[in-house]
Amino acid sequence: MKSLAQFLGLDNLRDRYAYADDPVLGHTSARRVAEHWVKTTCGYCSVGCGMEIGVRDGKAVAVRGWDDHPVNLGKLCPKGLSEHQTLSAPNRATHPLIKRAGNFERIPWSEALAEMVSRVRDIQARYGAGAFGVIGTGQLVTEEFYTLGKLVQLGFGTRNLDGNTTLCMASAVSGYKRSFGSDGPPGAYEDFHAADVILLIGANLADNHPILCRHLEANRDAFKIVADPRVTKTAMLADLHLPLKPRTDIALLNGMARVLLEEGLIDRAYIDKHTTGFDDLSTFLRNEWTVERAAAITGLDAEVIVKVARTYGRAKAGFIAWTMGVNHSTQGAETVNAICNLALLTGQIGRAGAAPFSITGQCNAMGTRESGFASSLPGYRKFENRAHREELAALWGIDAGRIPDRRGLAYPDIIQAAADGEIKALWIIATNPVVSFPNKRLLERALRNVEFLVVQDGFHTPTSELADLVLPAAIWGEKEGTYTNSERRVSKANKAVDPPAEAHSDFDIFLSIAGKLGCRDELFPGWTSVQDAFEEWKRVPKGRPCDYSRMTYQSIEEQGGLQWPYPEGKTDVSPSRLYVDGLYEYEDGKARLFPIEWKPFPEQPDADFPLVLNTGRTVEHWHTRTKTAQVAILERMAPNAWLEMNPSDARRLALKPHDQVDIESRRGRVCGVELRITEITAPGQVFMPFHFFETNVNEVTQDAFDPISREPNYKQCAVRVLSQGAKQ
Ligand code: SF4
Repeated sequence: MKSLAQFLGLDNLRDRYAYADDPVLGHTSARRVAEHWVKTTCGYCSVGCGMEIGVRDGKAVAVRGWDDHPVNLGKLCPKGLSEHQTLSAPNRATHPLIKRAGNFERIPWSEALAEMVSRVRDIQARYGAGAFGVIGTGQLVTEEFYTLGKLVQLGFGTRNLDGNTTLCMASAVSGYKRSFGSDGPPGAYEDFHAADVILLIGANLADNHPILCRHLEANRDAFKIVADPRVTKTAMLADLHLPLKPRTDIALLNGMARVLLEEGLIDRAYIDKHTTGFDDLSTFLRNEWTVERAAAITGLDAEVIVKVARTYGRAKAGFIAWTMGVNHSTQGAETVNAICNLALLTGQIGRAGAAPFSITGQCNAMGTRESGFASSLPGYRKFENRAHREELAALWGIDAGRIPDRRGLAYPDIIQAAADGEIKALWIIATNPVVSFPNKRLLERALRNVEFLVVQDGFHTPTSELADLVLPAAIWGEKEGTYTNSERRVSKANKAVDPPAEAHSDFDIFLSIAGKLGCRDELFPGWTSVQDAFEEWKRVPKGRPCDYSRMTYQSIEEQGGLQWPYPEGKTDVSPSRLYVDGLYEYEDGKARLFPIEWKPFPEQPDADFPLVLNTGRTVEHWHTRTKTAQVAILERMAPNAWLEMNPSDARRLALKPHDQVDIESRRGRVCGVELRITEITAPGQVFMPFHFFETNVNEVTQDAFDPISREPNYKQCAVRVLSQGAKQ
């Protein structure tokens, strides 16, 4: 709104629109001229772009790409380019708050931490140690997640720790473990350039990982295939788009495998030397799968499936990458196995341009996988392996009996346990499940049920509104540590400015809680900085797949990140790949081939709910918009959710473009969403982005989870679409 001075022409906003010359940025807005620049890594997605934060008068005033960074060569996407604005967002959490009689009151840190420890200890005394659940995040630096794991498992003595990474990457983790004996994406970004065939499955890089899309486009010679039910921006870049029916990717992969087998396009020497399970897989494919069956299930022409299989099978270097279209499924882990089957059958792994490659979600989802205490013990060790537990106990100087021999509850099971009254205290760190968790009603029941809810976050969110205690945390740009990106590159995130008011880094909060709990000296002896955590952490994965041994903060910064494994003696920093020697992480050194049967997704459309709802992202926003809704340029570009619908369905429902519609499932209703009528979405399907609290798609999504990975099936549920306010 214009001020009176502006209205009268006395204020022409000269300060806002003044220009100045910056030695690096050139002629630019005076507001963006920095006194100094701090090198760091983007805190949004897992691409891991190198960037610099411009600082003036102690404030972040600009961001620019890091010119010679190996990931992005100076480029940034719209979120990265405006990331400094998140630091001064009006919704930052600045003071510890306690809820009394329904209202938040400020309290000193010492009181907040004492409250937290005494309430949790009281609940554990009454209901058992496992009545305390903790949900962390891929937004923490690795040093923080490692510290949190020790604090929760060894300090608080509960196994019920997981991260929001289970909502996006758990299927890739489980799939890799089953196929290769360990987690870890085998490829490198350079494979986008080195491959002659690139198959993307359920991966809309243009919206979700924009800088990786630049890598994809740079390889003009590769034949690019995109399998996606929607004609996404990425599908538009493909040489061949496969508009398969929702969640039929296993049928496509099995059909391709059958063609490879029939036409002798497999690498028998590689299979014999480096895998087990070929006979079972071969029998399964010959008995159960024909190209015609795959065609009938996917809706693709049989000739197209044959063409894709031949193209991949004849590739010199075939690269398959995927993201949430594969992972967000009740068969996510098995779909990963079906992808790995193709790579192993053809020997398309461990070479330049050849890999089955999961692209991660958050900036440090990978770090939580390496250091975590959730689905694995730190350093990709296994809970159930006694030798692994003893190795860790020796490193930490504790009794091995204190290390759990099986994992605790996964994220969805923590929520279900809270809804069922078994988890009584919950600590949620830097994540916003009120917007992000499927089936919002279940989630709300869980959060209402717990006796004590602590939310630790850099921002006030719809989840922190429900908390009993809010702990304000520093965010990207205000703290130090390391992130690991999708290609296993460990990069440094650095502090450019101080956190606001009384916010502290998550690391400092964890150490302070350990102090109150009385375990700081035992678990974190002499630690005062994240570098202390890093120096201990890097000894943990020594000799493991994610070996960090030779990394130092200095070498990481000098090289723009280092890919693991980076063991003692390694000096080569060129792109690295796993399984180059064909040796896998199973005891016999061999990878596993799995017969994978396809199953229809759990909630099929019917007469009452005839449309399949697909959910996803848009390039302007990040997750639940906690940050990006505060960045004016991003919010203006995508201020509201929308629903994409095919023209044939819109005609049948007598709906017009821009109509406000409601989307209803058996679980709830999202009201007042703008309709976009487009052939991007196929008949019988609708699509809606999931970022928006105001029109939250998780009112209608389903709490169905992969039985192996526990990842939610966000991508398909049955809905009907009605004019706004209409009654069915
Ligand atoms: S692509 Fe990802 S890492 Fe790179 S600038 Fe954009 S959000 Fe940040």
